[in-house]
Amino acid sequence: INKSQQQEGRILRWHGPPPPAIPHHNYAHFLLTKMATHGDKIALVESETGKQWTFSELCELIPRVAGGLAECGVGLGDRVLCLTPIHIDYTLYLLAIIYRGAICVPINPTLTTDELVHVVRVSEARWVVVHEASVPLVESAYTHLPQHTLRKMWVIGKAQQDKPTLQHLIQHEPVPPITQADGLVCDKMAAVMPFSSGTTGLPKGVLLSHTTLHVPHMRHLFSEQLQPEKAKRVEALYSRILLLLPVAHIYGHGMLVTGLSLGSTTVCLTKYTHKAFLHTIQHYKITVCPLVPHLIKFLSDTPLLSNYDITSVKGVLSAAAPIDANTVNTFGKKMGIPVGRAYGMTETYGAVTVTRPPPEDNPYTVGKVTPYSDIKVINEAGELVCEGEEGEVCARGPGMMLGYTNNQIATSATLDSEGWIHTGDIGYYDKHDFLYITDRRKDLIKVKGYQVSPHELEKIVSQHECVSDVAVVGVKHQRLGEAPRAFVVLKPNTHVTATQIQGHVAERVASYKQLAGGVKFVNVIPRNPTGKILKRQLKEFDIVPASKL
Ligand code: AMP
Repeated sequence: INKSQQQEGRILRWHGPPPPAIPHHNYAHFLLTKMATHGDKIALVESETGKQWTFSELCELIPRVAGGLAECGVGLGDRVLCLTPIHIDYTLYLLAIIYRGAICVPINPTLTTDELVHVVRVSEARWVVVHEASVPLVESAYTHLPQHTLRKMWVIGKAQQDKPTLQHLIQHEPVPPITQADGLVCDKMAAVMPFSSGTTGLPKGVLLSHTTLHVPHMRHLFSEQLQPEKAKRVEALYSRILLLLPVAHIYGHGMLVTGLSLGSTTVCLTKYTHKAFLHTIQHYKITVCPLVPHLIKFLSDTPLLSNYDITSVKGVLSAAAPIDANTVNTFGKKMGIPVGRAYGMTETYGAVTVTRPPPEDNPYTVGKVTPYSDIKVINEAGELVCEGEEGEVCARGPGMMLGYTNNQIATSATLDSEGWIHTGDIGYYDKHDFLYITDRRKDLIKVKGYQVSPHELEKIVSQHECVSDVAVVGVKHQRLGEAPRAFVVLKPNTHVTATQIQGHVAERVASYKQLAGGVKFVNVIPRNPTGKILKRQLKEFDIVPASKL
C-alpha cells in the first residue's frame, strides 16, 4: 500500500453499519416534533421550588414565544444573547429563538462588564434574554457600546419596570417555524453560538448549524435502531437527569437537549451547594448525573454521603476536563456504578468519543469514536501517527462548527480546508482504537525555550502522598523566562514543605522541568463551573490575596 492509503488507514472511524443521513430541518421544529410524543410527562423541574414544565406545555408555548420574538423583529440569522444560570424557562427561549431561524448566544452570567462588552461586540446581538440578577450587567455592557443598539430585553424571573418576561411572550399567537422556504439553509446557518477561546486568544463565537445540532439525536436514533434492547436501558438510565452544569457551556446545553429528545425529566439544580446536590439526587430519585471530574471526586470522597440515599443513580458521566483513572476506579468501586466519559469541545459540538459500559471499558481512555465523527492523531508535520504514538487530536464530521463568527484567522487556524478541527489536545489511540488524552498543547510553559507540560508536572506532584489537588502554571522568571509553579492543596492533617515537593519533582524530571517558579500552598484550586482549572487566576496569584483562592 502507498503512503496515502496508509495514512487513510490510520483515521479512527465508526466501524458499525453506516449511520443514516442527517436531516435538514429547522432544529427546534424537529425537536418539538419529538417532544410532542412525550405528552404530559414532566420535562423540566426546578429542584428548589418544584416549578415545572411538561412536554405538552413546552410544545404549545414555544411557537407562541416565537410569535412574541417575531413581533419584536427577531428573524432569520439574528443573534439573541441569553445570559442566565440554569432556569427552567431558558428552554422556551432557546428553542423559540431557533424556531424563528435566529441564533441563540448562550452566555455565562458571571462575566464582568468588560467580558460581556467583548461578547456583544463579537456576537453583534441586538436582543437579550437575561436573568433578573444580571439586568444591570447587560445595561452597563450596552452603555459601553453606543453603536450597538439594544432593541429589546426580556427578563427571566420577576418583571422589572418596562422589561417584559415570558408571561408577556406567551400571550402571543403561535407562529410557524422558519424553514428552507423562508431562506433557512440548515447546513450553512447557525442555530446556536456558544463562546469558546479555542486553542488560543480571546473568547470567540462558535457557529453551530441546524444540521450540526441534529447529530447527537441522530446518534441516539441510530443506536436504538441497531440495538432496540439497549434503547430501553438508555431510556431507563436517562429517566431523571440532574442538571447542574451551566447551560451556556456545550456540555450543559447538550445534556439539556438530550433530555428533551429522550423524554427524560430534567431536574435543574439552580443553586449549587454540596448538600443541595445530594438532597436533590435523593429527593428526585435521579438516575443519571452528568458531572465534571471534581464533582465526581467530591462524591467519592465526601463523608456527607452517608446521610443520603443516592442508590437511584445508575450512571455518572464525566466530560469537559480530564479525569484521572484513580478517581474513576475509586468511584466505580465505592458506588458500584461506572463513570462514563466523553471527550470533545465546543467546536466539535460535544462528544467525538464516548466510553461504553464494562467490560470493554478501561479507566484511562475517553472511549471510542462516535458515529458521524472521524478522528486522527497527527505529528508536527501533519502526518497521521501510528497506534501508541502521541500527537495532536483532530476531529471531522457533520458535528463540527461552521467557524468562529467574524474571525477568519482563528477559524482557519482551527478548522482546516479538509474540515478537520485541530483540538490543541495531545493524545494517542491503542490497538483497539480507544482514544487517550494525555495533555493539552493549548496550555504550555516555555522554560528557556524548552517546552514543559503542566499536566506532566501535576501528575507527579499529585503522586506525593500528602497532596490532594494541584495545578501547575507558568510564571515569569528572570533567569529562565518562564518557570513552572505548583499550587498545592494538602490532604487534611498532613505536612510537607515546598522544598520537599520541589525535591519530589526534581527526582523525576529533566532539570529544566523543575519547579523553579516555586510551590504555593492554597486551600482550593480555583475552577470554572465546568471544572477547568482557572490557570490565569493562579498566574495572577501574587496580586490576588490567598484567602480568595
Ligand atoms: P470546551 O470547549 O470548554 O468543552 O473545552 C474542550 C477542551 O476540554 C478539550 O479540547 C480538552 O482539552 C478538554 N476536555 C474535554 N473533555 C475531556 C476529557 N474527557 N478528557 C480530557 N480533556 C477533556
